[in-house]
Amino acid sequence: MVNPFFANKLEQAVKVTGCPLCFMRQQAESKYIHSIIADHINDPASRVHIINSLGYCPTHTWKIAEVEKKEDGESLGTSIIYEHLTLVIRERLEKLKKHPKTLTQNNPLLKQVQKYLPQQASPSASLRTETPCRVCVMAAESDDSYVRWLLEGLSDPDNDETRRLYKQSNRLCFDHLRQSLDKAAPASAAGLEFLLEDSLEMLKALDGDLRVHISKYDYDKKAPRTEAEQFSWLRAVYFFAGRREGENPKPKFSDSQD
Ligand SMILES: [Zn+2]
Ligand SMILES: [Zn+2]
Repeated sequence: MVNPFFANKLEQAVKVTGCPLCFMRQQAESKYIHSIIADHINDPASRVHIINSLGYCPTHTWKIAEVEKKEDGESLGTSIIYEHLTLVIRERLEKLKKHPKTLTQNNPLLKQVQKYLPQQASPSASLRTETPCRVCVMAAESDDSYVRWLLEGLSDPDNDETRRLYKQSNRLCFDHLRQSLDKAAPASAAGLEFLLEDSLEMLKALDGDLRVHISKYDYDKKAPRTEAEQFSWLRAVYFFAGRREGENPKPKFSDSQD
């Protein structure tokens, strides 16, 4: 059974360069970030989340600033988030300044007895958190749905539209392939089988192109290369690293992927 919402997303995602599920996740992140900025900046519960996680991870901190600037042409939301966070960090630093932890690392006697004492928190403990970035959590949830829907669509015995669309894409990256392995259910076994077979074929072609590309360096660096050989390194980067945010260079893919 093909999820109609997913089918629509997939149709758009196969047209862009790089892993289609990376693209869908990036779209979902942008949408979520936009809702944080538009509706939740002054919402107390959201503010508590932001403080608990001490802001966002570096990737999403940049993305929040960029999304707001790009879509709204301003940076009010970003300023409000980080004004509050700056205040929180300042208070914590003030406390640390008043009660500095004794730095014991270089005291040989203390080092000796330390293993018998309860584990001491690091000096920067109050400036760290175990609470993950909210956008990362949301992105993982969105990944979960998209991976399952892809597997379901690829398993549909009465409709090969998902397979047809998937064959037009630049294929899943390594991370999304691993997620597919972990998230396949008995009902989506046929989809996983298709995905594995297709990935093996893609990797075989990639490996062949990389080998020829490398071997040509041995006898003549300027030896003519097919497009598939010439861009093999870039295809490998797309597979191992996934799609980058924003514009992605277009590698020419080998015939087997057209
Ligand atoms: Zn991906
Ligand atoms: Zn994050």
